[in-house]
Amino acid sequence: MAKWMELLGVEQTTGYKCEECGEVSNDMQIEPLYECSSCGQKYTRSNSSTGAGSGCPNCSRFGKLISNFSCPECQEGPLEEVVAFRCPSGDLYEDEGDLENHLVEEHGWEVLNTLKEAAPE
Ligand SMILES: [Zn+2]
Ligand SMILES: [Zn+2]
Ligand SMILES: [Zn+2]
Repeated sequence: MAKWMELLGVEQTTGYKCEECGEVSNDMQIEPLYECSSCGQKYTRSNSSTGAGSGCPNCSRFGKLISNFSCPECQEGPLEEVVAFRCPSGDLYEDEGDLENHLVEEHGWEVLNTLKEAAPE
């Protein structure tokens, strides 16, 4: 992790990235994710037609379990574990560039450019 991140209070942590929408978060839903073997619809257990996971909400056909966790954002993607950076306000970013944009645009921390030059690593 770069020195300037430490100086700004950024932490490195484990995040979960949705393969569908790209959302990176720490609070994944502990809800299994299923995929319909007939129409391809992805759905969580509580969205299934039976409420127990086996029925597709679209066509009621059988679906197979594809992940034990589902994305809190779109509820469609399986999640993969990634190394993420947490800004002091709690937002998670996997990409350093996205984090930088966030810090400058949301927090107004243009100072990070100065820090980067002063303490590159
Ligand atoms: Zn279906
Ligand atoms: Zn998602
Ligand atoms: Zn933030």
